[in-house]
Amino acid sequence: MSPDVMAKYEVVIGLEVHAQLSTRTKIFCSCPTSFGAQPNTNVCPVCLGLPGALPVLSRGAVELGAKGALALNCAVQPESVFARKNYFYPDLPKGYQISQFDKPLALAGYLDVHVNGETKRIGITRVHMEDDAGKSVHDGFKDSDRFTYVDLNRSGTPLIEIVSEPDIRSADEAVEYFNEVRQALVFAEVSACDMEKGHLRCDANVSMRRKGAKEFGTRAEVKNLNSFRFLKQAIEFEMERQVEILESGGRVIQETRLFNPELGETLSMRSKEEAHDYRYFPEPDLIPVRISPEWLARLQASMPELPQARRARFVSEYGLREYDAQILTASRETADYFERAARAASDPKQAANWVMGDLAGLLKADGKEIPDSPIPPEHIGELVTLISKGELSGKLAKEIFPKMYATGDAPSAIAEREGLKQISDTGALEKIVEEVIAANPKQVEQYKAGKTTVIGFFVGQVMKQSRGQANPATVNAILAEKLK
Ligand code: ADP
Ligand code: MG
Ligand code: ZN
Repeated sequence: MSPDVMAKYEVVIGLEVHAQLSTRTKIFCSCPTSFGAQPNTNVCPVCLGLPGALPVLSRGAVELGAKGALALNCAVQPESVFARKNYFYPDLPKGYQISQFDKPLALAGYLDVHVNGETKRIGITRVHMEDDAGKSVHDGFKDSDRFTYVDLNRSGTPLIEIVSEPDIRSADEAVEYFNEVRQALVFAEVSACDMEKGHLRCDANVSMRRKGAKEFGTRAEVKNLNSFRFLKQAIEFEMERQVEILESGGRVIQETRLFNPELGETLSMRSKEEAHDYRYFPEPDLIPVRISPEWLARLQASMPELPQARRARFVSEYGLREYDAQILTASRETADYFERAARAASDPKQAANWVMGDLAGLLKADGKEIPDSPIPPEHIGELVTLISKGELSGKLAKEIFPKMYATGDAPSAIAEREGLKQISDTGALEKIVEEVIAANPKQVEQYKAGKTTVIGFFVGQVMKQSRGQANPATVNAILAEKLK
């Protein structure tokens, strides 16, 4: 579709995000949630859905779910109720998912997202708890071309589902929102949100309407998007597809679609089910979840600092620019790393520059991330302090930095070993200055004739003579004095 045609429409998006809670055991049994075990080894009668087995709700899952809801600015409900969501699927041995329906864990939250320099608040309708299904495995086994295998290790993994209001108005906003949800859950230590391990995925509800229209259009729901890129691609594909239908006088049908990453397209999976199709009813094997005000207060008190608060503190406490604070809170690891460097540094802003500049560059070239940094953050702090004490010049620091990266050694140790200390001792520098002046009578003439810019030439010569170790400020002062 041409941009002109697209411009006549507005996209409306609501996301349903599923996050795995970081409990060691499953939500209704004590099987481990560990990743990568042999298929069907982390199972028991409860998560296999054997008749007569009874679920027992994990207290840890409730606590993490409630903390997740708090991190999303939601009101945790004093009472919530589990419900059976009935459907048939080979990887769902019980024949129903235990979820929450009309009485969810938490309601009415929000997250602020930043897109194109603007801040927008996206409403969160509800957060509820549920158990995950197992996994159908389509390849890698004997006769995989003819059979589908079922691995129930994931069955019973604790999840929270976070349902947004239909407040999102572009693919970029959706990606930012998904990222903010991820950050909030990671910072709150509610979920590791490792997408490769299936900890986080989302369904995107997408509809189009004429600009200025009050009513929402009919939506399609794209299921199981497990990367930011796929989310963006799926939404952009849906926007085009739906506008094409609307422009040709057709009607978008409400349906569930799947994203195909190879094609970059969404494909129809089934017509959209309605809530009544699931025959929801209260789970008779579980009592309602009651969270007392005291319990909630304890959870509230145990909440770690969240990304938005941390960002604000980086600005006020360390004097960072808003934009830098944003970068340095991109993940909890990055924020922790920077903060350890900043605490060891005489000047936190300089520590930020090293982390975002030289360190980021070396890590990138190495295909690594902050948690794998071979430089302990305290070494960056030490480097900054050595520079401000005048023991290292900026130039020497730049030379030492890759060595810190390669060896993991402290900057002071490297400087010591390689004899790279900055010379601030006036006596030693005076001697070099005098030699340089004696060796360059022509430039001295020029200086005395009023061309004071040649001082730069002298500084350069002194730096060269001292193998970059002279303190430039001291050299400047001595030169000005001697050339008078
Ligand atoms: P379900 O998908 O289970 O039927 P809901 O009807 O509550 O649940 O909607 C799920 C999601 O779809 C929510 O995130 C909501 O914001 C979003 N949504 C609802 N209507 C529309 C619409 N017309 N266009 C885009 N998103 C929508
Ligand atoms: Mg849905
Ligand atoms: Zn089990």
